[in-house]
Amino acid sequence: MLHAERKPNAGYEAAPRSVVILGATGSIGKSTADIIADSNGALRVAAVAGGRDPTGLARVARDLGAEFAALADESGYAELKQALAGTGIKAAAGRAAVIEAALHPAEIVMAAIVGTAGVEPTFAALAAGRSVALANKECLVCAGSAFVRQAAALGTRLLPVDSEHNAVFQALGGADPETVEKIVLTASGGPFRTWTAQAIAKASPEQALQHPNWSMGPKVTIDSAGLMNKGLELIEAHHLFGMEAERLEVLVHPQSIVHGLVAFRDGAVSAGLAAPDMRVPIAHCLFYPQRPKTMARRFDLAEIGQLNFERPDSARFPALRLARDCLKHGHGLPTVLNAANEVAVEAFLGRRISFGDIARLAERCCDVAVREGLSREPQSVEDALAVDHMGRERAHALLAELAASGMLTIH
Ligand code: NDP
Ligand code: MG
Repeated sequence: MLHAERKPNAGYEAAPRSVVILGATGSIGKSTADIIADSNGALRVAAVAGGRDPTGLARVARDLGAEFAALADESGYAELKQALAGTGIKAAAGRAAVIEAALHPAEIVMAAIVGTAGVEPTFAALAAGRSVALANKECLVCAGSAFVRQAAALGTRLLPVDSEHNAVFQALGGADPETVEKIVLTASGGPFRTWTAQAIAKASPEQALQHPNWSMGPKVTIDSAGLMNKGLELIEAHHLFGMEAERLEVLVHPQSIVHGLVAFRDGAVSAGLAAPDMRVPIAHCLFYPQRPKTMARRFDLAEIGQLNFERPDSARFPALRLARDCLKHGHGLPTVLNAANEVAVEAFLGRRISFGDIARLAERCCDVAVREGLSREPQSVEDALAVDHMGRERAHALLAELAASGMLTIH
């Protein structure tokens, strides 16, 4: 359960707060670097980690003055080492090196690796007692119980970077969860908000990558276009705020100004508003509980004029209904959903399946998992990763069947 801490505003710390950035070359990684560079020395970077881009990782490590840079892809090691020669920044590569970066001495870890690849390093940081600023929602969808239990056991901060959850965290303001009637996450509706179901099913990767309000990495952009992202976020909210599915709602809000709302049992509603700029929640988490001035975008309500809200249409966006069903079912089904969705998004971006197939493939994998008797909530990260592996195998098998049958879409 996540509460804002009711501490007096203590003023700014004298020593800089040290940060590790996991996923430093990505969209959240870059916005994190902006906030750090703009912090007048209040934040400093201890270590950075990335996936497959040695040049990009070396650049960010040099620019931010990191002590250690870790690349997941071992074949990029020589290039990374070469690019960091003479800087004094230590280079390493491979899965263990990314975990070493996560454990590098620091006060807070920005967890911004995309997908399930982020689970192990993020959990390692949490288990070592680091505060974690969590952008990687897949950690909670895949292994939420293990993460929340670990944070509670050590009293470690798990701060939500995802804009909706960050807004809810701020709107809660440390309130007793008993007083909360429901939590509402907003969704922009993505590029297909007004499209017909038929048009959505046939959308191309280029169309799905055109997000109207946010500039993000490809996986979360595709997730957003089909509202799978909002479905994953319901599961994320369930773990962060200890709220069951029945008290979690989604509202489509095309302007992306109101990100989350908390409705209290006395009828009062608090909302978290901000410009659609991830630097707002990133700064909130990195400085928490302080609140210095930042360069994040501002908004002007009079200029915007209108804020609109509508109910999501789960007939046109079946992924949202599917994710809610998985959350209600529990027993590891969110883990399977997350795994199958990751395989499906990659297949869609590789033009091997249609947009409509993403939710269909994920649903098929969940059906198979239920039929095969998946009946236990994964209690540890190892457990969750085993279920994730099974979900991926089912998804790949389904893709192979599809290719063998010569069909272009799943029926
Ligand atoms: P990007 O695709 O832009 O960046 C992903 C980052 O992860 C890159 O730095 C990539 O490195 C790195 N990476 C990939 N695989 C590994 C690995 N095995 N080990 C170490 N690093 C790895 O994604 P985003 O920044 O958009 O998203 C990151 C996370 O934040 C996602 O979980 C997303 O859902 C979440 N999020 C993002 C938002 C946004 O606005 N972008 C908003 C809310 C949540 P490389 O570049 O070398 O491949
Ligand atoms: Mg979000």
